[in-house]
Amino acid sequence: MTDVRVRIAPSPSGNLHIGTARTALFNYLFAKKNNGKFILRIEDTDAERTSQAYIDNIFDSLKALGLNWDEGPDVGGPYGPYTQSERFDIYPKYAQILLDKGFAYECFCTPEELEAEKKEAAANKKPYVYTKKCLNLTDEEKAKLRAEGRKPAIRFNIEKAQKAFHNSSMLTFDDMVKGELHVDTNLLGDFVIMKSNGTPTYNFAVVIDDMLMKISHVIRGEDHISNTFKQILIFEALGAEVPKFGHLGMILAPDRSKLSKRHGATAVSEFVEKGYLTDALINFVALLGWSPSDGQEIKSLDEIAQDFRINEISSSNSIFEYDKLNWMNSHYIKMLSIPELKERLKPYLTKYDLSELTDAQYTRMVEVTYEPLTLLSDITDAVPYFFGEDVEIDDKARETLDSEVSQDVLKTFMEQAKDWEWTEENLHEKLEAFRAFYKEKGVKPKVTMWAIRAAVTGRLCGADMTAILAIIGKEKTFHRVKAATKSRQCRIKDLF
Ligand code: GLU
Repeated sequence: MTDVRVRIAPSPSGNLHIGTARTALFNYLFAKKNNGKFILRIEDTDAERTSQAYIDNIFDSLKALGLNWDEGPDVGGPYGPYTQSERFDIYPKYAQILLDKGFAYECFCTPEELEAEKKEAAANKKPYVYTKKCLNLTDEEKAKLRAEGRKPAIRFNIEKAQKAFHNSSMLTFDDMVKGELHVDTNLLGDFVIMKSNGTPTYNFAVVIDDMLMKISHVIRGEDHISNTFKQILIFEALGAEVPKFGHLGMILAPDRSKLSKRHGATAVSEFVEKGYLTDALINFVALLGWSPSDGQEIKSLDEIAQDFRINEISSSNSIFEYDKLNWMNSHYIKMLSIPELKERLKPYLTKYDLSELTDAQYTRMVEVTYEPLTLLSDITDAVPYFFGEDVEIDDKARETLDSEVSQDVLKTFMEQAKDWEWTEENLHEKLEAFRAFYKEKGVKPKVTMWAIRAAVTGRLCGADMTAILAIIGKEKTFHRVKAATKSRQCRIKDLF
């Protein structure tokens, strides 16, 4: 068997899309499974849509996902350069070979002329294919057009290639994912391989690069199937070995439309900014079209690589269930160690002054707050009461604080707690006794605690109350309880 060499070939016209990440993952897995090489190639032939920031984003996102490449623009390799814009001197040579063999021809049509052809086809309700107007131009005619200042594009001669290598106009290939696929090549139209400005089109550059980089298997989205037929013809015309192709179903939003910004994040970096863990993302996208043999969905990249088989990939589209991703993310958050969490949560705590807490207090805060998190970013709204002197009281907490019983609880709390030793262990005991004391008076323990929680945190839900009190300290606790009591006394209705 030939050496397995696969590639991910993103165009840097945007940040790395989650769909591209899945394609990269399946290529990576296929390489791992077959002791092959995984190659990164940057397809930046469209200079206007390309930016260095997007290239950086692609690098960073793939690395963050753990999809490290064996050859690529930064690490080099035997078949570089791996950035198409650095390969512009390579493509004309191969275009010339095709011209010489008659598999390509020069086309002098202007954009306006082509537009007119397209309009005519539309008027006749026919699908547009190039009319091959320039196929049989004589040398004199070409010279004349050149003299007019026209620069030719180069088109691929489909009919010639098809006749040379196939018996009929049908072109067929055996897709690794979708099985046999075919097309009537009469419908493809002689497509441009080199633009009049001397740069290659996508379909041409891809073939030359896949050929020279010895790519054995091309795994990519099914939106490329129509390109694949064209590319097979180019491979054949060049006398090159045609790689095996596998086309993945698309990723659709829950409403079955194309996944787009309006559904939520789409770029890997956006997911990360929102607080998704890359381990969760990679696990989640692996399940878009593939299922583990043991039915266990939570799997690390290595475990997935062990289990992965390309022929088991579903050929249909997959639905991107944000809810499932959220579930998976919360699972992965729970699997992080406390030291890891302390680091990973910091970017989402920048609005607070972390120096208010000692390291031990910060550790404890993380310990008592991480479990309910779905996203790392959820920590931002989960912890405001650990910082600052005062707290904002929400409506429900305000209502609680307004009750007679809460006011009574707070006053008693201040009387009793002033003598308490302020350690978490002791507070635990004291609060238990405090609750029991009120229970005797007929106040439910949770009502007792709500009063303290409302005063100290400004809300009725949150982390373990004993831990909160221990972390924020006696002084802050008293300050807030006092504030909650005083505010009651100042309420206008109490003045009458
Ligand atoms: N640059 C192409 C894209 O981003 C790559 C397609 C391919 O894998 O050939 O869609």
